[in-house]
Amino acid sequence: MGKADLHIHTDASDGDCTPYEILEKAIEKGLHTISITDHDTIKGYKKARNSDLSQEIELLPGVEMSVRWGEKEVHLLSYCFDPDDEDVNILLLQQSGARRRRMARIVETLQKQGIDIDMDEVKAEAGFSNIGRPHAASVLMNKGVVASFNEAFIRYLSSEKLDHINAEYCTLSEAIRVMKKAGGVLSLAHPGPLYSSDEIEQMIDIGVDGLECIHPSHPYPVQKKFTKLAENRHLMITGGSDYHRPSKSGYEPYFGIVTLGEQYVEALKRTSRQRKALKNYGDNG
Ligand code: AMP
Ligand code: ZN
Ligand code: FE
Ligand code: FE
Repeated sequence: MGKADLHIHTDASDGDCTPYEILEKAIEKGLHTISITDHDTIKGYKKARNSDLSQEIELLPGVEMSVRWGEKEVHLLSYCFDPDDEDVNILLLQQSGARRRRMARIVETLQKQGIDIDMDEVKAEAGFSNIGRPHAASVLMNKGVVASFNEAFIRYLSSEKLDHINAEYCTLSEAIRVMKKAGGVLSLAHPGPLYSSDEIEQMIDIGVDGLECIHPSHPYPVQKKFTKLAENRHLMITGGSDYHRPSKSGYEPYFGIVTLGEQYVEALKRTSRQRKALKNYGDNG
């Protein structure tokens, strides 16, 4: 049975590797299926899809969206949607805009704290990537404001420190509506300790199809708890390494190690096929 990794970042968002490098590594590790799930962009996925290496591995369309749900910001994984769907692409462009505006406000807040940083520096760090807090963290680190990436988050960039800065991301319902219309299947990313059972039930009621049971932040009992919940509620089960970059020692954290069984990938693909077939039936009827 082949192994899958359905949670990987590239330099199209806040990862270090190019989509091509991700394909090379995944093939080398013997993975059967992967999904590139950058933050609010599918540019990395599209580059991978258009490269010659995409013939040597199964590559599923994917994205990790940041969405608003009440007071919370939720990471929502979407898979197997039509990546050329107009509404999906419009929604992701809006998400990129929301990211840029949020970063401008984060930079302002840092400046008010007396930190020497400006938006152009963060934009230069991000380059063509979808901008995010890790780019600001790199700027702070390169300028010696902090000694490490982690310190940047602890002292300045964690959600708690930036409590009053909410991005204008789309809502959970809007993301679900647009993605499902394009045949997408939605999974709640790394639920770990982030939500109560009640909150998870509510998100399932809104239309979330599955849970990311397998994630590096989930110790085995947590993985088991979510797998059981998913099975009881007939939900999809997804998982992956959430890989961003090699560690300083050269070790690739969890890449090729935290993986998902093919049977779950098959269920995901089947659900998407059914969704697309139903839509075509509806469109023609
Ligand atoms: P953003 O997309 O701007 O909300 O930034 C979220 C990303 O920042 C996550 O996907 C992680 O890659 C990274 N991140 C969040 N918290 C930390 C942390 N404490 N240390 C290092 N990286 C973090
Ligand atoms: Zn990230
Ligand atoms: Fe996430
Ligand atoms: Fe992620």
